Amino acid sequence: MVQEYEVIVVGAGPAGLSAGIYVARQKVSCLVISKDLGGQLNLIPKLENYPGTMMSSGPLLAKTLENQYLVFGGEMTFDTVERIDEAETGLKVKTTRTEYMTKAVVLAPGKVPNNLGLSNENQFANKGVHYCTKCDAPFYQGRTTATVGVGGYLLESGILLSRMASKVYLIYKGGGLGGDKDMIEAIKKKENVELVPNTSIKSISGNNTLQQITLLDNSGTEKTITVDGLFIEMGSKINLDFVKHLVTINTKGEIEIGDGGKTSHPAIFAAGDATNIPYKQIVAACGDGAAAGLSAFNYVEKLKGKPGIRADWKKTIGDTVFHY
Ligand SMILES: Cc1cc2nc3c(=O)[nH]c(=O)nc-3n(C[C@H](O)[C@H](O)[C@H](O)COP(=O)(O)OP(=O)(O)OC[C@H]3O[C@@H](n4cnc5c(N)ncnc54)[C@H](O)[C@@H]3O)c2cc1C
Repeated sequence: MVQEYEVIVVGAGPAGLSAGIYVARQKVSCLVISKDLGGQLNLIPKLENYPGTMMSSGPLLAKTLENQYLVFGGEMTFDTVERIDEAETGLKVKTTRTEYMTKAVVLAPGKVPNNLGLSNENQFANKGVHYCTKCDAPFYQGRTTATVGVGGYLLESGILLSRMASKVYLIYKGGGLGGDKDMIEAIKKKENVELVPNTSIKSISGNNTLQQITLLDNSGTEKTITVDGLFIEMGSKINLDFVKHLVTINTKGEIEIGDGGKTSHPAIFAAGDATNIPYKQIVAACGDGAAAGLSAFNYVEKLKGKPGIRADWKKTIGDTVFHY
């Protein structure tokens, strides 16, 4: 028999787990389906900017969010969602192993950063090699860095690093920089930024941490430079094949959302890095996950003829009702 849940959440990153917490806490049945626990949180050994905790790690936050979700009676399964379809009584969610029925879905499938494809790249991940400049540039105050990438991602990376690092090599394959003209002008004026056009990275090396990168230019000339950190800003992959026939996706491949995580489908809500939000950070994913979870809850309550809720809880003190 096909299992039924009132709400199904796709993804157990910070957006999906936050959605799950807010749904399960309202005592409606909720299942989080995810390939893994934590998503990109697993790429963050040192987490400095999650409000409320000065020093944490991505995996620790993932485990805390999972425990919180399970305490409220939510269910979790590790599986891959392959397709979501409309059905007579709601939405059918097909996974690699089975099928579920649900009234509402919260999409939180996040993204995966592209890498350079070097054979030893994984070995240096977070040991000198980084995939999120806005997250990790502050670890390189006064140090020598390089950034390699494409278009606006590279420009933003160069500008952020130039404010922290003593030296920034800005490495790109073409002859000219692509992207926003003002940003290009700004980067050209930075004294600590050296532009390295027509060049790619051939190899990286070091002992425990990254120490050197070998550059290869279009003429076939190799050059090895010493760096403390290498930032790879090659964009990310968002895979929405399983739901692209049901929701509007923008030209960047992100789910278009409005207030409360509403998508173009009335029973589907979305949050986190797979959506068109501007700042792809954990605290934003958690906040938007909570909103999408509450929207999904309100949707299923309205199907039952109930009014839903405006806030998570309220308190009356004297004559005043406070909504939180
Ligand atoms: C290297 C790196 C460092 C970072 N450092 C910081 C930092 O210091 N501070 C900060 O605020 N942010 C940081 N970020 C950004 C932050 O990690 C993301 O903004 C955040 O994780 C997004 O959360 P999410 O839940 O939307 O997606 P994700 O974290 O990407 O989680 C998505 C989840 O969905 C699952 N999934 C995807 N597709 C399916 C499917 N079809 N079926 C089932 N499951 C699926 C994935 O397996 C994953 O578990 C960093 C990112 C990177 C890459």
